[in-house]
Amino acid sequence: MIRTAFALAAVVLVSVLLAAQDPTITIRVGTALDGSGNVLKNTTLVVEGGKIQRLDPSIRRPTYDLSELTVLPGLIDTHVHVSWHFGPDGRFSQRDSSQAQALAYTVENAYVTLMAGFTTVQSVGAAIDGEAREAFGRGLLPGPRILTSLGQITDTRLTPDQIRERIRQLKKDGADLIKIFASGSIRDGGRQTLNDDQIQAACGEATAVGLRSLVHAYGPDTIMTCVRAGCTAIEHGTFVSDEGLRLMAERGTYFDPNIGLVAQNYLENRPKYQGIGNYNDEGFAAMEKAIPLNLALFKRALAVKGLKIVFGTDAVAGAHGRNAEELIYRVQKGGQDPMAAIVSITSLAAQSLKLQDQIGTLAPGLQADLIAVDGDPIKDITAVRRVQFVMKGGRVVKNAPRAQAPTRDR
Ligand SMILES: [Zn+2]
Repeated sequence: MIRTAFALAAVVLVSVLLAAQDPTITIRVGTALDGSGNVLKNTTLVVEGGKIQRLDPSIRRPTYDLSELTVLPGLIDTHVHVSWHFGPDGRFSQRDSSQAQALAYTVENAYVTLMAGFTTVQSVGAAIDGEAREAFGRGLLPGPRILTSLGQITDTRLTPDQIRERIRQLKKDGADLIKIFASGSIRDGGRQTLNDDQIQAACGEATAVGLRSLVHAYGPDTIMTCVRAGCTAIEHGTFVSDEGLRLMAERGTYFDPNIGLVAQNYLENRPKYQGIGNYNDEGFAAMEKAIPLNLALFKRALAVKGLKIVFGTDAVAGAHGRNAEELIYRVQKGGQDPMAAIVSITSLAAQSLKLQDQIGTLAPGLQADLIAVDGDPIKDITAVRRVQFVMKGGRVVKNAPRAQAPTRDR
């Protein structure tokens, strides 16, 4: 009895202390898209302890009045390469002069992505992502929540057992997921690289150690193998068959076609990449050709009932902070329903990361990750370019109506 009373007193004391450090923030909403497909009207979000506690329309004097804007959950990009950047000479830089320099660029990329409304990114991924994840996780520097694969399974010489070993090591090192290259780059034709046994070993072991597996894959047979192997998500998928799309829908495999930013960004920034590795004339021609193919693919994918088309961009150097362009393209060129597009970049993306009980929806109990945009994205999807307000985990990190967002020179 006494012990219970003590415990209760301790709980009360801790709550009082937390409340003292973390005052209640109230946010007036005129219109909000809650991330799960619903529209909220004329209410106030009550934020305490970094979370949305409740919705209370009766509150009269909010801390922030966002009633002239449209409020959404913080955006989520499930496919970025947050460390990729142009170097001091303005060219794509694969090797930095120091790890410190590499980390500074990574942190800047993450920051501009946050300012563009992305409160969570999945980077697939380099070891240095882990340092950025830890730095932002300490909570001082404003940055997006980072999930990272820390590395990639690409080496075709590895035996299935060696692949399993590598995955166990990545798990030990703190990877949030496993990234696998089952196909080569589109610049080299996108042919299958890992064999079926290697793909099965990779996705099978990822599942066995409790990690999700994201596979970079292009060809129809490759994709069938990946889906049957239980891989969590397929990225790109340019040459997937309709049968492959239906199998993904049936098995609940997430599909992240990167159709509106990555190839376009490479072409816009061609001089900064040209002459490095497979960024040659042939490579650029292949990317140019892939753009209409990807658009046709996306339209085919939209027609497949139950297919979970999730938002991801494959953001590389030049694309950080412009991630929302993929969403605009999917709606304007691809014909995706704007509300479905918003769901794909919020609650569905959260579900694909297995974080649906923490982020992706404006609902009590979830993290107070939210943004406000100028305009209504359902009527005009380009509103997602105009992010005026960003809160991450209950902390306002941007409140700058009409201010110029920081951008990477590109
Ligand atoms: Zn990628």
